[in-house]
Amino acid sequence: MNIPLNEEKTLVITPLQIQRTVFALLSVVMAAVVCKRSLPQGKAAIARLDGELQRLTFRPAAVTLYVGETFDSLPECSPPSSRLDKDAYTWELLDDGVLTVENGHIVAAKNGTTTLTASARHLTASVGVTVQYRELPPDSTLPRLYYEKLPIANYQNTLEADDVPADLMAIPAEYVAENYGTLYISAETFEAYQALLRAMQSEVSGCRMHIISAYRSYARQSQLYDNAVQRYINAGNSSTQARLLALNTTQTPGNSEHQLGCSIDVSNDNTTDHNYQNTPEGQWLAENAHKFGFVLRYPADKEEITRIAYEPWHIRYVGVFHATYMYVNHVCLEEYVALQQEAEAAAYAYTSDQ
Ligand SMILES: [Zn+2]
Repeated sequence: MNIPLNEEKTLVITPLQIQRTVFALLSVVMAAVVCKRSLPQGKAAIARLDGELQRLTFRPAAVTLYVGETFDSLPECSPPSSRLDKDAYTWELLDDGVLTVENGHIVAAKNGTTTLTASARHLTASVGVTVQYRELPPDSTLPRLYYEKLPIANYQNTLEADDVPADLMAIPAEYVAENYGTLYISAETFEAYQALLRAMQSEVSGCRMHIISAYRSYARQSQLYDNAVQRYINAGNSSTQARLLALNTTQTPGNSEHQLGCSIDVSNDNTTDHNYQNTPEGQWLAENAHKFGFVLRYPADKEEITRIAYEPWHIRYVGVFHATYMYVNHVCLEEYVALQQEAEAAAYAYTSDQ
């Protein structure tokens, strides 16, 4: 397609570019002089000049790349007949790390906006390049860390009997409430818990905080559920009624979050009921747990969503980013996982539009 010259978007001219343009004009003049000398007819000389490269322009003048993508556009040459191939260009990257060169390709390296310049035959063209992470499409307020799927166990999501955390470790006895035996936990969760506990101990005077439950195997959950059912049967309920009643307090095997190894029930050694929220420890936990990557997994006003009665003592490790998002936006894990799925769908819709 022939584009009239007056519609071309020209480059921002820098002194260097003026210098280069002057060189380019000089070389055109020289070429004309040479042509005139070697060609007998003036008209033939002008026809020859039309094929000379006169201008380089990037269209569009700005592009957006995701981290890891390769920049592979070439400037448009004017007139079109003067088109150059890729090897004819010299590229200039700013020293800001937004773009990098890998195996002879220009690759988007990190978030930011930069300028890339291509030069050929004393002409230059620049293009603005914005690099962003794939999980951060513009105009979205949703968190984009859907790459990091959060495991969830609830009435809808059932774990297998052999789902066991890979980094399970025994919790040192001093962290566990008396007479609760040896408890196990995911090492990553325990490290975060230690940081949380240190902070709580420094801010809550006379702080008492002990773990009363952490990892629970599928078999152990089976036992707890069966025991709960039995208690209701002993109280005079039919076995069907007893099973339903047991569900109010105890999850069926595979549906307890404790099997994930990143949930902890805590106690201040006096209170393991709803009054825990009114203790200094319970209050501190509600306000600060997210700073250490934990959320109160079963909030009072989310019972209809979690289908678990309010548990101010049950914390779940999800990492600081997710925990902070959930705390600030007041969403429980079920809502958050749904948001992650929405974000993922939106991001894929966005990338497939490009
Ligand atoms: Zn619990």
